[in-house]
Amino acid sequence: MRCKRCGYDLRDLGEHRCPECGRPFDPQRPRTWLSKPVSGRKSLLLAIVGAVLFVIPLALALAEDVGVDFMSRLPTAVRVPVYLLCAALMITAMTIQTNVLRTGTLVLLDRHPWVTDRRTFYASVPISVAVLGYFIGTLLLRVFS
Ligand SMILES: [Zn+2]
Repeated sequence: MRCKRCGYDLRDLGEHRCPECGRPFDPQRPRTWLSKPVSGRKSLLLAIVGAVLFVIPLALALAEDVGVDFMSRLPTAVRVPVYLLCAALMITAMTIQTNVLRTGTLVLLDRHPWVTDRRTFYASVPISVAVLGYFIGTLLLRVFS
């Protein structure tokens, strides 16, 4: 349990206010404190893993767009699991990027958050925005064209 602003350890305190920076917190409400410091490296790694998970289904969709339609030549017994795997990859990738963006928004809203390795953390946010933006943009283009 750590202060959301400065990272001070808030356990076993008499009053519900950070002695270091004065930020109030409520032990009953986990939203008012951090369970552990936000790791910049872990966030960046997650954003990259999410981006890579997007690549496989996108590559298949793009191959179809340019006429390399090898998927339709595959037997149904192979094609169905491949589609299901692609859907699972997309959902996993979206969950990862949404989580990175959610943490990013929380951190950016709070002015002095406690992030270990801040530069790598900030690198993870544009990756998530770009990947999610590209995916949603592609989706919208397909729906409205
Ligand atoms: Zn504090």
